Amino acid sequence: MPFDSILIVDWSGGNDRGPRPKSDAIWACVAREGNADEPKYFRNRQLAEQWITSYLQSESHAGRRVLAGFDFSFGFPVGFGHALTGSDDPLALWDWLEQHVQDGPSANNRFDLAGQINSRFPGIGPFWGNGLRRDIPHLPRKGSERTCDIFPEKRAAEASAKGAFPIWQLSGAGAVGSQVIMGLPMLARLRRALDVSVWPFEKCTSSVVLAEIWPSLVASAIRDTMPEHAIKDAHQVRCIALALSVLPSADLQRLIDVDYTPEGTILGLNAPELLENAIKSSALTPPPLRNDCFAMPQGAHWTPVDIALDHLRDHLQPVTGTEQCALGECIGRLLAHDVTALRSHPPAPNSAVDGYALAGPAPDGPTNLPLVDGRSAAGQPYPGHVPAGHAIRILTGANMPAGTDTVILQEDVNASDSAIAFHGPLKRGANARTAGEDMKKGEVILTAGRKITPGDLGMLAAAGVGTVTVHKRLRVGILSTGDELCEPGETADVGQIFDANRPMLNATVAGWGYEVIDLGRAADKREPLTKILNSAAQQCDVIISSGGASAGDEDHMSALLQGTGSFALWRIAMKPGRPLALGMWENTPVIGLPGNPVAAMVCALIFARPALQRMAGGRWERTEGYLLPAAFEKSKKAGRREYLRARVQDGKVQIFPSEGSGRVSGLSWATGLVELSDEAQVITPGDQVYFLPFGNFAK
Ligand code: AMP
Ligand code: MG
Repeated sequence: MPFDSILIVDWSGGNDRGPRPKSDAIWACVAREGNADEPKYFRNRQLAEQWITSYLQSESHAGRRVLAGFDFSFGFPVGFGHALTGSDDPLALWDWLEQHVQDGPSANNRFDLAGQINSRFPGIGPFWGNGLRRDIPHLPRKGSERTCDIFPEKRAAEASAKGAFPIWQLSGAGAVGSQVIMGLPMLARLRRALDVSVWPFEKCTSSVVLAEIWPSLVASAIRDTMPEHAIKDAHQVRCIALALSVLPSADLQRLIDVDYTPEGTILGLNAPELLENAIKSSALTPPPLRNDCFAMPQGAHWTPVDIALDHLRDHLQPVTGTEQCALGECIGRLLAHDVTALRSHPPAPNSAVDGYALAGPAPDGPTNLPLVDGRSAAGQPYPGHVPAGHAIRILTGANMPAGTDTVILQEDVNASDSAIAFHGPLKRGANARTAGEDMKKGEVILTAGRKITPGDLGMLAAAGVGTVTVHKRLRVGILSTGDELCEPGETADVGQIFDANRPMLNATVAGWGYEVIDLGRAADKREPLTKILNSAAQQCDVIISSGGASAGDEDHMSALLQGTGSFALWRIAMKPGRPLALGMWENTPVIGLPGNPVAAMVCALIFARPALQRMAGGRWERTEGYLLPAAFEKSKKAGRREYLRARVQDGKVQIFPSEGSGRVSGLSWATGLVELSDEAQVITPGDQVYFLPFGNFAK
């Protein structure tokens, strides 16, 4: 990482603003590696300068590099600096201002100084906007009174930044001139006190790099992420500091790599979307789920599976924040924003085959064309124009040279060094790919909630996307409960059984792409279980437990959740099943699965999987299966859904001979589940049944 910390300062040209934090004063915020300190308020410039200097000094002493951004322009429209200082070095202007500006908490000479500067140039201006009661020689109150036009009204940066104000205006809503005059002297002093480089005037090699920022460049991202009642200035320094601190180094480098200009420019002006996305992605973690999100109206009857699923879909929402992720690292992650193609694919018309490019179409019958000298190969396009009635050698993937739109396949041609002959007809556009035929620049190619696949990576790369915003990985704690459990591999006492659920659920959840936090086993006692849940709630976004979920004496998970006021015991019309226990433990959702391994696994696949996907920022999706003929016979109760361990042989679905929910060996025997609908009563061999391969639950 090129910088260890980011300091962002929202400067002010005005007088002391008093002790209570308010807007339009000076605000500063420090961020490191995605964590921002509380924004700091400074009532005046003197206090701010003291703090900034000592902060930068201490970072330098600690050997930490800082990127320090200030929200005022570092340079003036072209020609001004030279006219004032006689030097082409924009930093000479900083020193000039430092020598001439007098500043104090309650008064400063900025308006008088601007008048004096104006007096050096012919006509009235360029500065205007006397904000004082008294008249100031050579400083008009209105911009329209000016006649001096020897300097441009705006820098190139302002001209391309929509809504930016010209530097010459010193007062009135939105004016920035005063900030510049009252800011550059402070930066000039920082340069003398510390090892500082100034972007983009100098090579950014020092331990402190000063850069110009402009929050309005990313106004909409700042607005969209602003908490209610926040002070805008405080929020925006935090946003920008955080965004720059999470930006991948290659992206930050891209922002820094701009051409030298004596006017200076705004950091991010060349790619505001990078900052914008970083702001959105570093926005705060969403609020926790509501305490009553699992409360389902309970009738006398058991709840059908589909109603239970609908309830989860409607009451769950993403619980994790977002982060930037490089392409190489984002497989299986969930997109937080839509992604648009940064470049068309293909970027230019090119050849789909090795052959000869020409202007199509070619008529029926023999065609002879002279060849132009040269060729077009992939990565080495032909720079010239191919004259009408000529052809040119072209290779697969090479750009179509100007003057051509059609390619004749090499195998269909007789060629000499100077001409080709072939038999038409040849359609116009044959064997050529048009620009953007696959993806167009600016087109949405993936939408939020998408789980990124290897194919997506190829598409994103081809569209020039190197970084995406994804949800932070969901942290899922997994806990087994029961006095009878011991660890596989240990010696089991009489009455003990091995914990089969935890390894199975750990692997299942890890396979879904989440971070598994193994919470171990909890005995059937409330105190230790409480302790485990307390610490799990700190580390996990969601907790999955198995066992102790019913309403019996030893069902301590249910009992504890009951005490939170968020508990719901879902009696679902499903086999295998028994109730699902749901609740919130200190703002962390808990999904209590049944203890029997087969029921635990089936409930994890049917309920926990979509629930976790939703909380992780993914879409709500039904697991797809296939209709296949049954190789078995079975009768069941209507009004209850059944999931049987199943596998496919010779195109027919077989089921595990036992339906016992403790028969964990059947999970190993099976390659999927067969889902028997709520209504079904009798299944006879040859009936179509719905088979859900385990692989389809693994995505
Ligand atoms: P419970 O829901 O706690 O009443 O447990 C139901 C059944 O599942 C009991 O026979 C438990 O011994 C068994 N069981 C609970 N947790 C596990 C586990 N982690 N591994 C294997 N069997 C378990
Ligand atoms: Mg138990």
